Amino acid sequence: MRDLVKKITLPGRASYPVNIYLLGEGEDALLIDTGYRETAREVVEQAAGGRISRILITHYHPDHSQAGEAIARETGAEIFAHPEEIPTIKQWFEETEVKTVADGEIIKFAGGEIQVLGTPGHTRGHLAYFWKEEKILFSGDLVVGGSTTWVGPPDGDVRDYLASLDRLKGLEIAQIFPGHGQEIRHPRKKIATLIRHRHMREQQILVHLKRAELTIPELVQEIYPILEERFRLPALLTVAGHLHKLESEGKVEMIPGEENRYRFLGSGD
Ligand SMILES: [Zn+2]
Repeated sequence: MRDLVKKITLPGRASYPVNIYLLGEGEDALLIDTGYRETAREVVEQAAGGRISRILITHYHPDHSQAGEAIARETGAEIFAHPEEIPTIKQWFEETEVKTVADGEIIKFAGGEIQVLGTPGHTRGHLAYFWKEEKILFSGDLVVGGSTTWVGPPDGDVRDYLASLDRLKGLEIAQIFPGHGQEIRHPRKKIATLIRHRHMREQQILVHLKRAELTIPELVQEIYPILEERFRLPALLTVAGHLHKLESEGKVEMIPGEENRYRFLGSGD
């Protein structure tokens, strides 16, 4: 990794470790995401080589945004996030202001320019940050290393998520530095794999609904026959997210009067 990006991996709580990134050095370093509140001190210590002037948040989830206030108090940094995410981020904070940043904006700093990309899907106001000079995408939870992103209700939207992945194809990305997991050195391949994975899930749901009218738990049972208990709720919400997309496309519907039982409608192919 180039010296201009410092990766700081912090422990998660129940979930995976989270990556945050320090860009540049001197008086004008940028921080992308923050980690949980309890690891704020570690971030400030690890960032000792540069004064963090701005903190760019990818999305409101606490592993990405919660330490913002504590880091800002120590460093004087300003915090930026998408307007959709700000109300929830402010719940973690006592008083610190969060400024808005949105799709299309360019953030200039000592290391060059960061292009802000609106990439909804995992959350409504999810942002990714593209460092143009270095061709590095800081993807937050849009793309994660070694795994797939969780996309489900209430915030997630599979259709938006796929559109956001699609959008990445238009950028000349050399590497992806994700919010979780290892750097991604073959971005095109990874993005194509993620899109394929969603389409595969969708096809599975359609195949089962062509055969029978099923509830969400019944679909989960069909698609994930062996499932650890802790993955049960994510699986239910993932299927619900896909059904929501298929419903909006007129391919399936919830059977009137039968709450949560779905049937196949369209060709779906
Ligand atoms: Zn997240």
